[in-house]
Amino acid sequence: MSNTTGSGMGDLQSLTNSITAVTSPFRLYLSDLLQKYQPLDEGAIADYIPELALALPEWFGICAVTTVGQIFEVGHCKQLFTIQSISKAFIFGLALEDHGREYVNSKVSVEPTGEAFNSIVLDEATNRPYNPMVNAGAIATADLIKGNNGTERLKRVLDMFKRYTGREHDINVPVFLSERATGFRNRAMAYLMRNFGMVGDNIDETLDLYFQQCSIMVNAHDLAMLAATLANGGINPVTQERAIQEQYVQDVVSVMLTCGMYDASGEWTYRVGMPAKSGVGGGITALVPGQLGIGTFSPLLDAKGNSLRGLKVCEDLSRDFGLHIFNAATGDRNLEEWIAGSNGTDDW
Ligand code: GLU
Repeated sequence: MSNTTGSGMGDLQSLTNSITAVTSPFRLYLSDLLQKYQPLDEGAIADYIPELALALPEWFGICAVTTVGQIFEVGHCKQLFTIQSISKAFIFGLALEDHGREYVNSKVSVEPTGEAFNSIVLDEATNRPYNPMVNAGAIATADLIKGNNGTERLKRVLDMFKRYTGREHDINVPVFLSERATGFRNRAMAYLMRNFGMVGDNIDETLDLYFQQCSIMVNAHDLAMLAATLANGGINPVTQERAIQEQYVQDVVSVMLTCGMYDASGEWTYRVGMPAKSGVGGGITALVPGQLGIGTFSPLLDAKGNSLRGLKVCEDLSRDFGLHIFNAATGDRNLEEWIAGSNGTDDW
């Protein structure tokens, strides 16, 4: 895990940074959001496999990372959970790097569906799945990840996530095995797409890769780093490592904006206006291009599969700081002034 402040005992700089971050207005603002929405206990924890149902309803974390690498976090930001559908956006980026835009687009479209994420529907004219964020499109995208075998392909995926977040990631093996044992619908989609030549012959290997990518363990801090890296043109703002070629950042971010929040993507873009992706593990990763990455975690989901508290947090942030990407007016608060109280990173 990256320790950006080197916070050993007696490390004065680290202590100063951490105190500054604790007292910075933006961190206090996030802390207020946490208190405001902690009592919200509607929604349900995903339970289509037993492992996910083990999440605690009170878990709630918010992390924000600026494109200059300042980190603000409140609540359960170290609690690990499975990334689930959030992985789809980043795998799309890797597929683009592996094959280029034209080839990837010949296998998966970029059109929102207005259908549930697991709908078994392909574009009638081209037989392509609609977009990389619905399961069919995500499986077709996973199929494009290069490597000589399943192990190599998974390693490339894990290495990619490490470039974005700055730390190693593991698979939650029980979640992976459960997804694999019960994912009949995903398997059906893969075979249907095989029929239409949208995926190759390695169907079972690709399905394993898909179930593994969904089972990668992350925390709210990681989700903020993923988003901040995209917001920063593909370069991790803390490690300065490039995670994705600059030319493909716009592809990933556009599809997040149009298709990232399940069947609530239109309403999300209207109300919040940040490219984002959510997952049934309870995470949301959202970005303000050029400025900020946000990661939220709370496993209580609404009927569409989006984290309820996470939605509220992003809505407040967007409104209060005028962060909607199409907003020409300024918000009540100026983000740069509010984060100016912190001259360093949080005590991570
Ligand atoms: N692993 C899940 C599935 O394939 C994805 C869940 C999600 O949408 O986050 O059904």
